[in-house]
Amino acid sequence: MSATPRNLLVVGQGAAGLAAALSAAEEARKRGSPIRVTVIDKASADEAGGNTRWSPSYMRMATPDRVEPGFVHDMLVATRFQGDKSYFARLADDTPATVAWTASHGVDFIQPTYYLAKGPPRIQPAGGGAALVKTLTYAARQAGVIFHHGCVAHELLAESGRITGLVAMRHGADEIISADAVILACGGFQGNGDMMRKHFGPGAETMQLLSPGTRFGTGEGIRMALALGAARAGDWNGMHAEPVDARAKNSAPVVLVYPYGIVVDRQGRRFVDEGAGFVHETWEWLARDVHFKTPGSKAYAILDSRLLEIADYQRAIRSEVPAVRADTLAALARLIEVDAETLGATVAVYNAACVGDPKIFDATRCDGLAASSVLKPPKSNWARAVVIPPFFAYPLVGAVAYTFGGLATDDHARVLRDDAPIPGLYAAGEMTGHFYDTAPNAVSVLRALVFGRIAGRKAVAELGAR
Ligand SMILES: Cc1cc2nc3c(=O)[nH]c(=O)nc-3n(C[C@H](O)[C@H](O)[C@H](O)COP(=O)(O)OP(=O)(O)OC[C@H]3O[C@@H](n4cnc5c(N)ncnc54)[C@H](O)[C@@H]3O)c2cc1C
Repeated sequence: MSATPRNLLVVGQGAAGLAAALSAAEEARKRGSPIRVTVIDKASADEAGGNTRWSPSYMRMATPDRVEPGFVHDMLVATRFQGDKSYFARLADDTPATVAWTASHGVDFIQPTYYLAKGPPRIQPAGGGAALVKTLTYAARQAGVIFHHGCVAHELLAESGRITGLVAMRHGADEIISADAVILACGGFQGNGDMMRKHFGPGAETMQLLSPGTRFGTGEGIRMALALGAARAGDWNGMHAEPVDARAKNSAPVVLVYPYGIVVDRQGRRFVDEGAGFVHETWEWLARDVHFKTPGSKAYAILDSRLLEIADYQRAIRSEVPAVRADTLAALARLIEVDAETLGATVAVYNAACVGDPKIFDATRCDGLAASSVLKPPKSNWARAVVIPPFFAYPLVGAVAYTFGGLATDDHARVLRDDAPIPGLYAAGEMTGHFYDTAPNAVSVLRALVFGRIAGRKAVAELGAR
């Protein structure tokens, strides 16, 4: 007589959930364990995939089979040494095998060109996150994984401390789904206005969402685990956000040429060091400052015609709307409804402080072309006068991609309560709290895949051993 199959339930069909489900199905087959793997997702089949579906999915690897030697240290630097070293060490160790495994399912990897300033090396799935979702979904179905869409998980069930399933809303009614183990992979809480306001303050609930898939991260996964006593981790005041064109309707219309000009608020005043570092080091706080600190939550990147001389400058502008353009600063100010006198004065002060040799300007690295120290706020790199017409402006707003506050998990992706794993509960991806202060560049998809795969294999190993 064959054994009754056990049920493993995965919540979420992004990178983390797909890696979890596919690896679990494979591990179960390898071990000969009768385990049924089901993925539920709140979105329809066409929209499921959350942020992953809309992300270019750059991954911080030197080559497809190697991370840089300083990877773990870089993670700790990005998290201001608040990150869990063993988590990032496990990430570094498992990354090459996870990428090889992903490739074995038909995902091709390329070495892409990035924006302008280079930053850490990276690889990318050809076709970005959309290809990742499509290919891994196909592979998971082939491996026997069952998918249910339009199914919103909102409460975990447990007996004697062990997970026994969850409650999900489907077709307007609650449904109990029994499970012997649950892997939560359902993203952050950026799409939940109440949670955003609670953790980031008034106005956070109106922050633009970076992509159409970003709205599905509404925090149920985090909240239902916390309700069971799971420990919190990560930076609850942390989010990944980017400056985008306020006029554009396309997904992630980022404007990342701001370091090569100045950024002013609606009154025409500078308020940040636009050239403090590479864009991936400054974009989060610029986006947050624009949203939370400037009047009307809007700012303007102002550039002159030398923008057009920067090789491949278009790579750093993903807006579908062309820049506002004028032959004089005063005309530009009128077009963007910024006080012309104030803007003129701001540019004059800035230009006077651009005392370095403009020949050392180099958009591809932090060039050290700093403005004179009298300039407040300073400009640390790329300080070239804004002087040669025509002039250009991009209206900017801050858009959130995902939040950092989440669940504490160990190196096996087990959710922790009082420093011990909650039996039968695992989590991976955005909803796990491992980022602090700033998101390490090009690591979010990678860690979703790596810890999703770890969770899937571990869950099957533990179910098989029971
Ligand atoms: C435009 C953009 C560009 C990005 N670029 C990069 C990049 O280049 N490199 C990088 O590393 N990261 C990047 N990121 C971030 C990265 O894409 C995400 O952090 C990562 O893909 C998250 O994967 P995930 O599986 O944790 O969550 P998601 O991909 O968001 O998937 C979560 C899934 O859970 C489902 N879900 C949510 N709540 C429930 C519920 N209650 N019940 C059932 N299902 C639920 C959602 O519908 C969704 O399908 C980018 C993000 C965006 C938006």
